[in-house]
Amino acid sequence: MYRISSPSLEKAGDGMAMGFRAGAKFVDMEMLQFHPTGLLVGNSVATGGLLEEGLRGAGARLFNGLGERYMQRYDPQKMERATRDVISRSSYLEIATGRGTPHGGVYIDVSHLDHGFVERSFRGMVERCRDYGFDLVHDRVEVSPSAHYHMGGIAMDVDCRTNLEGLFVAGEDGGGVHGANRLGGNGVADSLVYGGRAGDNMADSITGRDLPAISETQIRELGAKWAQLLGRDAGENVFKLRRELEDLMWEKVGVVRHDTDLRAAVDELSALKVRAAKVRAPGEASSNPAWNEALNLMNLCVNAEMVARSALLRTESRGAHFRQDYPASDPACLKNIYLTPAGEDMTFGFQPVKFTRMAPPEVGVTTHENDLRHH
Ligand SMILES: Cc1cc2nc3c(=O)[nH]c(=O)nc-3n(C[C@H](O)[C@H](O)[C@H](O)COP(=O)(O)OP(=O)(O)OC[C@H]3O[C@@H](n4cnc5c(N)ncnc54)[C@H](O)[C@@H]3O)c2cc1C
Repeated sequence: MYRISSPSLEKAGDGMAMGFRAGAKFVDMEMLQFHPTGLLVGNSVATGGLLEEGLRGAGARLFNGLGERYMQRYDPQKMERATRDVISRSSYLEIATGRGTPHGGVYIDVSHLDHGFVERSFRGMVERCRDYGFDLVHDRVEVSPSAHYHMGGIAMDVDCRTNLEGLFVAGEDGGGVHGANRLGGNGVADSLVYGGRAGDNMADSITGRDLPAISETQIRELGAKWAQLLGRDAGENVFKLRRELEDLMWEKVGVVRHDTDLRAAVDELSALKVRAAKVRAPGEASSNPAWNEALNLMNLCVNAEMVARSALLRTESRGAHFRQDYPASDPACLKNIYLTPAGEDMTFGFQPVKFTRMAPPEVGVTTHENDLRHH
């Protein structure tokens, strides 16, 4: 969905888009995390692939194109060990203000660390860089913020139930597990824990029930709907159109957001959605990359619109969501944004965040503390 991103290209948010079409309710879709150090390899699909967080943990330094250790300006205490959102935003602002590297990034530098230590401890990263002609051990390497993880998603309870009877959700399709940010390493844990819970609860929920009748008509209609694109010789090139979507999201719904850009993006996305439904996908259903990409693009358009419209509504900065026009967190916005599909359109509602264990100071005592006081 973004010009520079860490997941492989076939990841198109299919699960969320399917959820949307089925009428699932979503939460905090604006909360999308950017990893600070995605490799820059020109137009290669390798661009956006990650140089892992451990490098900064071990002492990696970040420099802008002028050779300045720019984290001094944004977080002089934590420097390169600041959280992902802070570093991504700082790097983005350096690049946007013209202090980036020749290829539009910043430099990561571990050359001051013991070379043997870097070779041994980060073998995968060193090899990945070597594959693309970069020497991570002895030299600075160009990196950029890279779209990485969606904290928002289909709203679920702790049993992975959604607003739709029979639809359970887990992993990155689910929303709300990580709030407005995610700590490194918690993504796989989320998928495993909630994947397990969803499986157990699904099994429980069907025990003793009759299987619902399968509608042959519905299956035929769905097949026909998605096959419509096949064999179409006229229309736009789907790969170029996907690139257009990625550029739009990067520039207007990216690391740093603003009302004017977000409004423009929402309009441009609705035009792009119409164009995406008319792309060219000649050939049969099997081994048809253009058709696969067309299906990806339609799903990406649904997800992009949910992100852009939710981002427009959150008029504050919190976690991974940064608004240049509202740079501070606003206690009055300590709310979850719920999105409900309404046909092709969507409606939105706000609900105060429920704190069950801990709460930020402006909210007052936590439920947990209350419980303790009463015992
Ligand atoms: C580069 C990268 C590095 C990461 N590193 C870490 C890390 O170090 N630690 C960590 O905790 N998290 C990490 N994450 C995040 C973590 O990997 C993901 O959040 C997690 O894998 C999501 O799990 P999931 O099951 O929701 O989705 P996925 O792992 O994406 O699984 C979804 C599956 O559904 C399949 N699928 C998709 N569409 C369809 C369809 N239409 N029909 C049938 N099947 C379909 C896909 O092929 C895939 O197998 C990383 C993510 C990336 C991209």
